[in-house]
Formats: sequence, C-alpha cells, structure tokens
Amino acid sequence: MKKINLRFFLALWLGKLSIFALRLLKKHASHFPGELALKLCPDFLQRIPRPKTVVCVTGTNGKTTTSNLLGDILRANGHKITHNAYGSNTPTGISAVLLENADLLGRPRNEIALLETDERASIHVMPYLKPDILLVNNMLRDTFKRNAHPGFIAWIVGKATPPETTVIYNGDDPECRSIGEGTNHRLSFSLRIPDTGNYRPGTFEERPTCPHCGHELQYTLRRYSHIGLHHCPACGWEPAAPDYALTELDREARTFTVTHGEKEITCHLINDSLANIYNFTAAVAVLDAMGLSEAEIQKGFREARIVASRVKEYDVAGRHIAMLLTKGQSPVACNNMFSYVAKQEVPGKLVVLMLEDQHDVQNDVENTCWFYDCDYELFSDPSIEHLIIAGQRSQDQLLRLMIAGVPEEKITVLDTIDAVFDAEVLYRAKNIYFLYDVFTDGVAEKLRRRVAEKMQEGGAN
Ligand SMILES: [Zn+2]
Repeated sequence: MKKINLRFFLALWLGKLSIFALRLLKKHASHFPGELALKLCPDFLQRIPRPKTVVCVTGTNGKTTTSNLLGDILRANGHKITHNAYGSNTPTGISAVLLENADLLGRPRNEIALLETDERASIHVMPYLKPDILLVNNMLRDTFKRNAHPGFIAWIVGKATPPETTVIYNGDDPECRSIGEGTNHRLSFSLRIPDTGNYRPGTFEERPTCPHCGHELQYTLRRYSHIGLHHCPACGWEPAAPDYALTELDREARTFTVTHGEKEITCHLINDSLANIYNFTAAVAVLDAMGLSEAEIQKGFREARIVASRVKEYDVAGRHIAMLLTKGQSPVACNNMFSYVAKQEVPGKLVVLMLEDQHDVQNDVENTCWFYDCDYELFSDPSIEHLIIAGQRSQDQLLRLMIAGVPEEKITVLDTIDAVFDAEVLYRAKNIYFLYDVFTDGVAEKLRRRVAEKMQEGGAN
C-alpha cells in the first residue's frame, strides 16, 4: 500500500513539474503530464482526490461545444472549475487537467470538474472518478476506423457508468436509452417542437430496434440521422415522457424554453442550428440538475461566448459563398453538411469538395472506405449544377460520386486544392459551397479569400 502511495506522489510531483517545464518552453501541457503520471502510476485516476462535483460530457457529436458552453455558464456564475477545454478527452488529457488542479498533496483546488470524455475512453475514466452527472448527447455512427456501431459504444459507456451517477441522456436517440437503464437515476431531454426540416432520407442510416421485442422502430418525426420521436409499432413501446423538454423555440426573438415539471426556463438562443438546439437543451438539463437557479442559467446563456458555427456565409460580388466545416470520416457530420447543401433552394449551386484524410495515413496504409459510409447520393440532387473535387483524394471521390449517380460531366476533378482558384466554372456559379475538413481549414480559408478577391476584381458576372 505504502509503495503504491509513493508511486502516486511521484507521479503527481513529476507530472506537476512537467507542466511547469512545458510552460517555460511555451508548450501545451494538455497531454504529456497526464501520460507521464499514468505511466508512473497506472491507477492515478483512482488515487487522485476527487473534486467535490464531477460532471462528464460524452456522446458522438457536440461534446466540445456543450462542455465549453457549460464551462462558460458555470464561470459566469462565479464557479471555479477544472475543465479540459483545450486538452484531450482521453485518460491522459483528463489526468493532466486534474494534475494541474491539484495541490502538492493532490487535493483539488477547484470544487467542480467538468470533463469532456471520449466515449471509448469512458471505461478508463468514469469507474474511478465516479461522476455525479454524466451527460450523453447522442450515439451516432462515427468514424468506423476508430469506433464501432453506436449500440456497441453505448454499451461501453453504460458499462463505464457507476450506479451512483445521474445519467442525463438524449431521449430522442434510441441508441442512448440503455445507458444506466435499471441501475441509475436517469433524466432525459427531448425536443418537443414542430419539425425543423433538417432531415433528408439517406442511404446509410441506423435502424434502431425496440428494446423489448427487437422490431424496427418507427418515427413520427425524424430530426436527423436516427434522432427523433420514435415508438415500436409491434409492441407499443415508446420512450418515457422527457424530464426536460424543449417546448418553445423563437428564432426571431432569439429565445428557447425548456420545461421541467412546473418549471419553464426561457433563455437566450445563442445559435439556432439543430445540433446546437440539442446542445442547449442538454446544457439546461445539466445546470438545473447541478442546482443552478433559473436566473443563474439565464444569466449564463446571456453571457456565454458565441458558439462556433460550422457554416460561415459571405456575399461576394453578387454571389453567395458558404464555407461548411465538414468533419471527414464522421458520416453523420458529413451527411449533415451534404444535406444542408442539397436542401438550399437557390439557383446555380456549385459544390467544392475538399475533404482530405492524408493526415490519417498510417504505416503507408490508406483507407478510403469511409466515403462509402457517407451519403454522396445527396449530391445527385438536380439542384446541384456542378461539383469540383480537389485534393489527393479526388479520384476516390470521383468514383464514389459516380456510384452515387452524379453524371461525370457535372464533375471537375483537380489534384490540388490550390487548383480550384483557376477553375473557370467556379466564377460562373451564383451559389458556391466549399466543404472542407478540420485538416484543410487553413488552405480552404486562404482559397476563399483569393477567390473572393478575384470575384470582386471581375465584378458580378
Ligand atoms: Zn417492441
């Protein structure tokens, strides 16, 4: 026992020393100190004294946005929190952030730890930290190279969740329903507003089944992917009434209302994308469950920083340019953007696809299977007049688009993203959609600026 304690303190002190050294070198201390601590003391997360309140945020999409929003709101109300906002959401990143918060005896300085937690890594984190609250945003089809079926990922999260944790889960997502079922105190959230019109039927969709009879579930309202209001037509099963329901959304007045029993909490609507509306509803549920008052939650939403949007729009010389951050390898994130383009009712639509995954080439092994997990079929929509595919993956995407039924004459293939600048077809379009990945962010933005300049020089043709 004594020996293990020594290991813990050695890990704690050397970890803290490494944070100090990295700061001197002006380097990020988001990962390495935790890695070092876990190497020296593998049960470090079990040993480090736990902050009074631990909140974990997990799920496929929206973890970072929701946990950053929660962080902003808690801070706006005077709470000091430990938060892996810029760190990693794996055991090493979480260990690093807890190390930073600990004094030399390992005692936490801040009483609240808000931890974005990777779904798969949750099994190495939550059994030790025993979160008071676990928020599960959603369980969607994710990069299959890393993640398996959402039902399997939900099973991992469920297995990782200690019985004392309150689980706040997305009641509109049937894949979330098993987490903590029968063992934990659970609270669900749901959108109870009319259809927001985001759903487009896709080729690749999860077909969740009834937890009781295994029959395929039926939807009365599908919001996106497999998220929506569902029930079982065979045995009549349906999710219980939500504990937190978004009952009003006023885009003009920029407000939304979440109803919880007798309580109606109306807050400022920071951003009105469907994904964020879910994130905001989840955040209200977590904050209310943490004991914040209605006034405190409202103050938080008023003061929270603007949530970054994945869509940026520009009007340039009589044309409209939209920059769409499209997280490659993540089918749901891709499909959300693909369907965004397909549903825009405007003339002269041109799509520039700049999705690269060269960063992910490991041991010279390339894997382009993920193209077949995304709905390129949405680009066969007749409203799209032309597509440009640019970058090292352009030939692979050409094949995918042809399989999706996009006529070859509608496609321009370019080997580099830079070459898009000289593509004449680009300057003839009225509505241009640049789809780029986090890894092509810099080059896409540079391209947009150059294209905009050229358009301004040439006037509105
Ligand atoms: Zn059933």
